[in-house]
Amino acid sequence: MSDYSNESVIAIENTLNEVDRALERLRVGTYRTCQVCDAPIDDAELVKNPLLANCRAHPELS
Ligand SMILES: [Zn+2]
Repeated sequence: MSDYSNESVIAIENTLNEVDRALERLRVGTYRTCQVCDAPIDDAELVKNPLLANCRAHPELS
């Protein structure tokens, strides 16, 4: 792994980790549910960002 690619590798790993968590939420049935307050997440929001894990009230937490 060369130095110049470290940042992009980290970004890719972060994305893959988010995908893992999204798949896990799909598996346990909480995919459409906010991780913070259990509110349902709009399908329209999930279409825009399939990795979305929180409702609009909790956009910063994941
Ligand atoms: Zn929430």
